[in-house]
Amino acid sequence: MQKEVVLTGLRSNAEFHLGNYLGAILPMVELQKKHAGQYQLNMFIPDLHSFTTPIDHGSLYEQTLKNLKVFVAAGLDIDQPDTFIYRQSYIAAHSEMTWILDCFTYFGELSRMTEFKEKGGQNETVSVGLFNYPVLMAADILLYGAKWVPVGDDQRQHVEFTRDLAIRMNNKFGELLVVPEENAKQTEFAGRSEPVRIRSLRNPEKKMSKSVDDPAGTIMLTDDPNDAAQKIMSAETDSLSAIPKGLDWEKQPGVSNLLQILAILKDDWSNVFNKYQGNTSYADLKKETAVAVSEFLANFQAKMSLVDEPKLVSRLEADENAMSEAANATLLKVQKAVGLRPT
Ligand code: AMP
Repeated sequence: MQKEVVLTGLRSNAEFHLGNYLGAILPMVELQKKHAGQYQLNMFIPDLHSFTTPIDHGSLYEQTLKNLKVFVAAGLDIDQPDTFIYRQSYIAAHSEMTWILDCFTYFGELSRMTEFKEKGGQNETVSVGLFNYPVLMAADILLYGAKWVPVGDDQRQHVEFTRDLAIRMNNKFGELLVVPEENAKQTEFAGRSEPVRIRSLRNPEKKMSKSVDDPAGTIMLTDDPNDAAQKIMSAETDSLSAIPKGLDWEKQPGVSNLLQILAILKDDWSNVFNKYQGNTSYADLKKETAVAVSEFLANFQAKMSLVDEPKLVSRLEADENAMSEAANATLLKVQKAVGLRPT
């Protein structure tokens, strides 16, 4: 019997930082460890999504390959037979399916998408791509009959939309598309209700983001380990002089951020909390976190240099061939249903 499909992707038009690593890359690698064997894992690079907002097109292609290497260095097993890695733009069916689905999508429902509104929906020069991308995301999911799409909060509305669209198509054309599971089950499947959010070291009220916006607050995976340790030592904290029992994002976001980073890197929350709670000085926590981050970076960068790129590219190309076949089979069913191909 065909295994159920889990689908997950990560934009890759920019260099990754520690927030991306701990909040998105590591969970993807863990997803593979947890589910490989039982499920088919589609881990794709949504390169067509990458320029719904302006980017440096000159570096997109190379950056995509470089970021794939990051996944391998982080522990993604490319020999795992149920895992498929592919670039969205290499499978033409994504674009073709999007057009067909576009014609069954309501202008009103896309206009209501929170992400579109937040990223500039009122702006006259916002790209139609940003408006339309939930439909491309629906195509990404529906082409492979993916039931499971573990996503963060910001993408839940798009998964709901994908369900609505699949149900609409099935009502009109008969059993055509696999409907992904509803959000409550998706959250249960992902095994976490609260995704990890790493904060800026300078402005801990905000999340860590690309270094151009916030160089001192952001640790890039390419940072020199000593510089990164320095950034941790200079991290913004507070004047309360007491380490909280748990994470307190309201009153002590800076200290909570350090506790969280250390706990994830050590993979040992209870030890980290037991050790530091109640301390009146932040110095030891900062020092240990600085050492943990610099060791992590040195280790990670060594692994990056060992990634076998030709092997990665050949796996990528083999998976793109396999996934083209799967996607084309669904596309053909849809083309037949809408009258573009003879039945
Ligand atoms: P972005 O390129 O900023 O859209 O980030 C890609 C993904 O990385 C997001 O969907 C999040 O899952 C993750 N991510 C980005 N920034 C952070 C952060 N500061 N903490 C945790 N996860 C993050």
